Amino acid sequence: MNFDITILGSGSAVPTPKRNPSSQFINCHNRKILMDCGEGTQFQIRKFKIKLQSIQIILISHLHGDHYFGLAGLLSTMNLLGRDGQLTIYGPEGLENILRSQLKIGDSKFAFDITFKTLFGKEREIIFEDKKMEIHTFPLKHKIATNGFLIKEKEPLRKLKKEAIEKDDIAIEYRHRLQKGEKIMDASGKILDLDRYTYPPKKARSYAYCSDTMPNESNLDLLNEVDLMYHEATFVNQHKARAKSTMHSTAEQAANFAKKAKAKKLILGHFSNRYLDTNTHQKEASAVFENVLIGEDGLNIKL
Ligand SMILES: [Zn+2]
Repeated sequence: MNFDITILGSGSAVPTPKRNPSSQFINCHNRKILMDCGEGTQFQIRKFKIKLQSIQIILISHLHGDHYFGLAGLLSTMNLLGRDGQLTIYGPEGLENILRSQLKIGDSKFAFDITFKTLFGKEREIIFEDKKMEIHTFPLKHKIATNGFLIKEKEPLRKLKKEAIEKDDIAIEYRHRLQKGEKIMDASGKILDLDRYTYPPKKARSYAYCSDTMPNESNLDLLNEVDLMYHEATFVNQHKARAKSTMHSTAEQAANFAKKAKAKKLILGHFSNRYLDTNTHQKEASAVFENVLIGEDGLNIKL
């Protein structure tokens, strides 16, 4: 089943022709999630051929403008194009007020339902869960309350070994339970051997989004062995003091954090527009962590 991430905006506060402000689109088992919504996100959605109305969940990390200024326009377009499907927005306290005021002052109404869920950026929480996946929030370390997000697949089912199942004539009602890894006693009192009848399950895949933040080591246990980690790298080492005073990270700090979390792969993003290219980010991060990707608008990664 699909689990892929498209970077829609890899820049920081000032948009450039090459980099939009923060936004990402995630498809996890056909659950369509938009993560942050910087100005111009709806153009990126169109440019990278994503179906706007397919988005079911929007997650907003914090209320610095480059992470949500695109939301009012995006919702308005959804409405103009006849959306009728429900939408859930998870975001910081105040976001609902901002959006509802914009509508009220313009005397507009949407024809579709939006459910707002408030996040406080103070503690970990599972905010969404269904049969296939779950979304966790975790607090980041930034100037204002900021949420990171972890999207995790549920443990996949074990695959049945058909030959052994048929040979031993295992009852149909036991098969799905075996796939779930249950310990089963059959009618004759015998415990069914899980390894005889099933292959071990594939490891559940996971994706972590650490938007604006200084490295926050209190999240290391939650993010341990994450398959893919996005971490902001607004600055390079030359501007380390600036990273500290603005509560952002350098590329090297992001790489150190990914290494400590034993992440399999790291994508860097949220680059300051002061840098003409990302060669130094790449170099400084790669010196401490080997699997580093530079985020680019339009980059699609399949887990
Ligand atoms: Zn910020």
